[in-house]
Amino acid sequence: MVKKSPSIRKEDGDKDRTRTFYINYIFEKDSLQILYTKTADLYQDIMMFNLKNGSGVAFTFNGLAKWLIKRNYDFATYYSGSKANISMSNRIANRRDSIQRCIDDLVSCGLISLEGTRKAERNNLLTQVYKFTIPGNIISMLLELPRLTDPSVIDRLIYNIMSSIGAHLLNHHSFIVKFASDIFFKSAKIEECSDAIIDRLRYLLHTHDIFNSQDLDRFLEVVLYFMISWRELSPLFFENVFKKALLKLDEEARSIILLHEKIQVENQIRQIFPPQDWERMWFHNIHDHTKLVLFGKCTKCSEGYPFVVPLIDYFGTFTDQKVHMKCTKCNCDNSLCVILFEPFQNLPPPWDMRNQRNNQATINGVTG
Ligand SMILES: [Zn+2]
Repeated sequence: MVKKSPSIRKEDGDKDRTRTFYINYIFEKDSLQILYTKTADLYQDIMMFNLKNGSGVAFTFNGLAKWLIKRNYDFATYYSGSKANISMSNRIANRRDSIQRCIDDLVSCGLISLEGTRKAERNNLLTQVYKFTIPGNIISMLLELPRLTDPSVIDRLIYNIMSSIGAHLLNHHSFIVKFASDIFFKSAKIEECSDAIIDRLRYLLHTHDIFNSQDLDRFLEVVLYFMISWRELSPLFFENVFKKALLKLDEEARSIILLHEKIQVENQIRQIFPPQDWERMWFHNIHDHTKLVLFGKCTKCSEGYPFVVPLIDYFGTFTDQKVHMKCTKCNCDNSLCVILFEPFQNLPPPWDMRNQRNNQATINGVTG
């Protein structure tokens, strides 16, 4: 007699099956943030089947389910002791709904694709054929990574993940995505850069409250944003990867990439309700993709003012959300705090009141 098993614990998300599935749910941890939830374990085991089965090799529900019944810790534990004599076909029947829902979720975010139907092994019924996609392969390899111990094997896998991402993004017909593809290919060859990218990617996939997406490409986009904005993640990244990829482009493509970056940074400032003098300077420089309009507040003389920097200098100079540079009002080194994210009313307090004001000294490398 086949009866419904308790399958996945309610608190692991089964209660919430109407929720939109995000790729992050594959990496969801319990409330203590120590162990993966049982549902996350099941998703991960399905993704690991990809490596077991051979990347990109077509598979059916039964082929996957047989492997999961033996491999998945929750299933294996349940079918032990007094339940050890339950047949494989009954075990699969018991777990069919849980497994199918996970497959459907992974199809919904493009990690598995539907490939058509084929005749079932034991009868004439048609059964669905599935395949892991390139983003699916990338996630499978990311899951494999922490299970490895041999440094040379780890290095090879990181190189494969980076190259797969580069190849995947190359399929897009967009200047900015092709540029991103080149950045992943270039970073693959530099250990510091690829380690930092993989580390950030795994970090992002493990966040649930901060960032969610059904699309792996969104994670890749955010990872590159991290790499560009937080230079300390990989000091080699800007000169050896980003700048080289940019300089390799023809003038039109390079201008388009710079325009993307200009809009992204200026949009950050726009969203924190900047003062009118910033808006005026922003408006007058809107058509120049080589220039970026920023806003700074001096921690020495308390002056707050907009200024223009060449965009490439911005990427070469600034390493974090907030940076300090020379103030053109009081001529004090490293006192001008550039505001990019924080609300303008939270401008930093002055650490020394207007005692060193010199008029209109020019910031090195900065025009205004
Ligand atoms: Zn100042």
